[in-house]
Order: sequence, then structure tokens, then C-alpha cells
Amino acid sequence: MSRTATSASPVAFADAGLVPVGALAGVGPSLAAKLEKIGIRHVQDLWFHLPLRYEDRTRLTTIADLRVGESAQVLGTVDAVERGFRYRPQLRVVLVDESNATLTLRFFHFNRAQAGQFAVGARVLCFGEVRHGQHGPEIVHPEYRIVHGDASIAPEERLTPVYPTTEGLGQKRIAGVDERALARLPGDAELELIPMEARADTDLAPLRASLLTLHRPPPDADVAALLAGTHPAQRRLAFEELLAHHLGLKQLRERVRRHRALPMSGRGELADRLVASLPFALTNAQRRVSDEIRADLAKAAPMLRLVQGDVGSGKTVVAALAAAIAIEAGAQVALVAPTELLAEQHLATLRAWFTALGIEPVWLAGKVTGRAREAALAAVASGAPLVVGTHALMQEGVAFANLGLAIVDEQHRFGVHQRLSLRDKGREGDQVPHQLVLTATPIPRTLAMAAYADLDVSVVDELPPGRTPVRTVAISSARRGEVIERVREACAQGRQAYWVCTLIEESEQLEAQAAQVAWQELTTALPGLSIGLVHGRLKAKEKQAAMDAFKGGDTRVLVATTVIEVGVDVPNASLMIVENAERLGLAQLHQLRGRVGRGAQASSCVLLYQPPLSAMARARLEVLRETNDGFRIAEKDLELRGPGEVLGTRQTGAVEFRVADLVRDAALLPVVHDVGERLRAHHADAARRIVARWVGGSARYAGA
Ligand code: ADP
Ligand code: MG
Repeated sequence: MSRTATSASPVAFADAGLVPVGALAGVGPSLAAKLEKIGIRHVQDLWFHLPLRYEDRTRLTTIADLRVGESAQVLGTVDAVERGFRYRPQLRVVLVDESNATLTLRFFHFNRAQAGQFAVGARVLCFGEVRHGQHGPEIVHPEYRIVHGDASIAPEERLTPVYPTTEGLGQKRIAGVDERALARLPGDAELELIPMEARADTDLAPLRASLLTLHRPPPDADVAALLAGTHPAQRRLAFEELLAHHLGLKQLRERVRRHRALPMSGRGELADRLVASLPFALTNAQRRVSDEIRADLAKAAPMLRLVQGDVGSGKTVVAALAAAIAIEAGAQVALVAPTELLAEQHLATLRAWFTALGIEPVWLAGKVTGRAREAALAAVASGAPLVVGTHALMQEGVAFANLGLAIVDEQHRFGVHQRLSLRDKGREGDQVPHQLVLTATPIPRTLAMAAYADLDVSVVDELPPGRTPVRTVAISSARRGEVIERVREACAQGRQAYWVCTLIEESEQLEAQAAQVAWQELTTALPGLSIGLVHGRLKAKEKQAAMDAFKGGDTRVLVATTVIEVGVDVPNASLMIVENAERLGLAQLHQLRGRVGRGAQASSCVLLYQPPLSAMARARLEVLRETNDGFRIAEKDLELRGPGEVLGTRQTGAVEFRVADLVRDAALLPVVHDVGERLRAHHADAARRIVARWVGGSARYAGA
């Protein structure tokens, strides 16, 4: 990511904060190395290394007042102690307090001495997140101490900040370093980077006081506001963070726009032939988006376009038409998908469409090795017009002769970085490829503005004709038998079904095991039906064979993990069962549901859940029952869960804010936009320094 490091790294200016952290007392090379891991190099970075959240140990909560999902501090007396070995060793301690309610503390890791501390009658002060237990509220692995005699249990004066950290760097240690860094915090005159003129009509709190409030909330601070993230100090920093993000994306876009790209303005004959060969007519939306893309491609400036469209809206054809235009112009096209399975599907589709036009796509995925890989690399290097693959395409050692268009499918799985790295594959002098990004995750407008400020957006807002809406029901796993019966009936009527296994832990291995178990169960329960199995642990060939058998109708039921989430297309499948649906995000469930409802017959989706459902989980499943509209679902998801989950940042690291929250702070966005534009027009240096402060050495916007 260091290609244009000089233009992207923070400019050297004489800031008090740009002193290396090593200058602080007690920060030696080993601590400095740990800090570096979380992006902290300079003293300034510590000032802006803000708490993720706060823990409230300033008061006691009675057990009767505990609320599930919230963290609380409780003082109680041990009423019962129980050691069990049901699945693994565990220790249960039941506390009771003056509210006469009981709270269970549960430990899975403990030693004998620890267990011995909890004698009936002992007083325990504990803190932790309250969960819904078998016998009322419970806390798993609380922080605790035994309170001896009348020892004081004076609550703490301030909220306890919880900082983002890394292995081997505890909260106390990082708070200590922060304390020393804060001692060097300069006055507002030096700290404030947004010129008065640009923020005159905003009501932003002063920066210095805001930073101090966030790092060390004073005892009289508005605790509720701080916990909710709505304190003026938080708003002040959220504002600046959003501003930095906005400016960063704009800089990125400007840098890209300064490059040139190959203008592709042929007669469009190849694209016309492709359209003529399709067994269907394009929808109006497909035609409109194709025209937008075509206009972009004709320019000598690189296209940067995001195509959004609900599952099944037909984005692949749109991408193929773009590819045809680029190929006609003599350029190479790369199409990248996030999973091997999806890439293989694209390969099959494009092969069917393009072979008829005399173009044979080249296949390049991580699992292509040895001779096959050498052959593929050679073909790519000598100018093969169409290359399809996974992120393997972005790796070192893959050299294109003349990459003119990079198409990335299901962008939410990739970060901005990867987007850039593929583009750099095609860089020649100051010429870069055009970029087309496809996503089925409909992103609400506010989010799209913030997350993709560097892209233009087209929307395929129409489904091909003849689709029947999918009927969705949520059913408790206690009624699993009935659901299996439904699968049997559907298959008896000549239809096919998916059975998707999901797990809470993101372990491919455990998920594969769960699928294996479900496969066994269904095979036993449905004798005479041939049942396929596909999961991430299978070899590419095995996966493909399982998919082909299902597509060809040889297997009637396909037990799968979420590897089938995106892109799989089997029109005869009309029943989708999702296990543990309550654990998945709405967007992901909507994606899965999109695998059915592709043929003429009525389709249904059964969301199996483990009772009891939390109120939140119930609300979420309800959204899916109510609507088939991906945009509405995304907006609901955003409301219910927040942007990190909606954009899938856990996988991508795409947008991670320290204080800002796009939903909570949505009202700030227009102001951010105004101030940002003012800075860009009149205070370029301040703009650069704000980006450097928040993005610092991180390469998020670098390399453009
Ligand atoms: P997605 O937008 O989810 O990637 P696909 O491109 O996979 O959707 O298209 C879904 C299915 O719809 C495919 O089987 C495709 O051939 C079909 N399809 C695409 N466009 C049309 C159309 N205009 N009319 C009928 N079927 C279409
Ligand atoms: Mg697709």
C-alpha cells in the first residue's frame, strides 16, 4: 500500500503532537511496538485514541433493576454455590441483595482458590454485562471482589473509559500512557485545526475540553449522555472525525481523477451481439445503468462507479456489457468475486455468454496452482481479454498486459484497500483502469454518501419480470420436525430446497461440522431423497460437483453453509431453510432468501430460530417477514444495528469510526459536508492536517 506514500503520508509540520510516543516517560521500544500495532506512533495519536465506550462503576444497581444487555455493578450476598460439569466445568454463584432478587454469576474458567472464595454469606461486589439466564439475570465471568467485613465499597467517581487495544496491552496500561500524553495537550489555539471562519455557524464545543472530557469524564459530567454517545464533547469529536473521513475520500477521488484512463468509445457491436444472444430482454433499469456505464467508459478519466441492485436484479449482465465495451476497445477486463464459489458461477455465466462471441475467459483463483496457474498467468500477461477470479487476481505476480476495466462484485466484502490494489494492477504511467463495483447490499443514502464518497452510484432498481415474492416465516427450532416434513413435501412436488447452517462463531471448520451433522440428520429423516452438501472446507472441485448436482436436479436438497450466500442461481429451488436465523444480519438473511424466488413457482423461506428470542431479534426477523425490499431491509438493519454491521466492516475494515456513528450522528453529515467543502476551497492545508490527524499513518486513503 505504499505506492504513492510521499503524497499520502502526513505532511511534516511542526505540531507539538508529532513527537514519537517513545518520548513519553515509561514508553520503551516494546510498548511502542504494541502501540504501533493499533496505529499509534505519535503523542498526537494518543490524544485522539478515544475510548470505545465507558463502564459505569459510579453507582450500584439492585438486582431487581438489572436490565439484560446492560453492564452494571452489583453488591450481593452469596446465597448458593454450585459446581457443575454438564458440558465443561463450571461454577455458578447465586447472589441475593436487598431487592430480594437473585443474580447468577457463571464461570467457565476458574481455579480452586477462586471457587473457595465464594462461601455462602460472603459479600461480593461485581461488575459485568447482564444476560438472560435460565433462572433470571446472569453475568458470565464478571469482574468481582469479595468485600470483607465492613470494608468500604465506595463507588468510583468517574466513568471508566474502555480503550481499543491489542493483545498484551491492558486497559490500565493504555490509560496510563494516555494520561502522560494528555499532560502535553496544548491549548485550543494550537489544537484546533478547523479555522474559525469555517466553523462560525456550527455550535461545536471547544476541542481541548472535549478531549479531556472523553478521556477522563469529570465526576459531574452527564453520564447518561456519555454512555449514549450524545455528549457535546463526543459530538465535537464525531464531527471532526466525519470531516476527516469526508476530506480523505474526496482527496482519494481527486487523486484518482487526476489519472487518465483509456477512453472506450467503440460502436458497441460486441455488446449488441451479447444482448441479442441473451434469452431475455434487458429490464429498463439494466438498460439505464448500462448507458451510464457506457458514458463513463467513453471518457479519458477513470470511471469509479458503484452499481447497487437487490439480489437477483441482474447485475451480472450489466457487468458483462461493460466488459464487452472494454474488450471491443482492445483492453483487458478483470472480474473479481469475494468467494471461489461465486467466482466460479461468474465464470460459468460469462463462459456461456462470451464463448459464443469467440472469447474464452481465463480462470485465476487461489486454488489454481502449478501448470494451470502458469498458463493462466501467461495468458493474462499476453493480453487475454477476460479474466475471472477471486482476490488471487490482486496478488503479487499477476501482471496484466493492458488492464482497462476492473469489475469487483459484492464490494461489501472487500475493503477500500483491495479496491485500490486491483486498480494498481492496471496502472501504466498515469493511466489506470476504469472501475466498476457491484453490490447487492443496498446501502441507505446517508451511509452511501459517507462510505462511498469516492464513487458514483447507479441503481438497478427493478427486478426482471416473472419473479414471485418469497413468503417468509419464522419458526422455532422446537418445530424442526415439521420443517423437515415441509422439505419432503416440496421435493415430492418436484421442487428443490436449500438448508443453510450458520454458527455464531466465525469458524469455517465449526460451520462445516454443523452442516455435516445436519446433512446426516436430513439423510436419515428423508430416505430416498438425494441430499447434497457444500461447505467452505471442501475442495473447489468437490464444491463445484455438489453445486452442479444440485443445479442439474440430481440432488433435491442442498445442505450448505453460508458459502452459498451470494450469487448461486438455481431457479428450480423454491424452499430456503436457514438455521439459527436470529444470529445473522438482515442483509445476509435477505441475500440467502434471494437464492429462491427465481423461478415461476411460489417460493418460501423458513427462518429457524433458537428460542427464546430477544426483543431485538424478534424485531429483526419481523422485518424480513414484512418485506422483500432490500433497501427497506437495509434501512431497518441500520436502525436496529448500526452501520458497522450493515456494511460488514468486521470483514472488510471499510469504515470504522472511533467516535462517530453514522446513525446517531446523521444530523451532522450536512454540516460536515458544508464545512468540508469550505475547507477544500479555502484552507487546503488545514484539510490535509485534519486527515493526517485522524487517518495518520494508516494507509486507508493512501496509494491513490
Ligand atoms: P444479481 O443482481 O443478484 O447478481 P444475477 O445477475 O445473478 O443477479 O441475475 C439473476 C438471474 O436473473 C439470472 O438467472 C439472470 O440470468 C436472470 N436475469 C438477469 N436479467 C434478466 C432479465 N432482464 N430478464 C430475465 N432474467 C434476467
Ligand atoms: Mg450477483
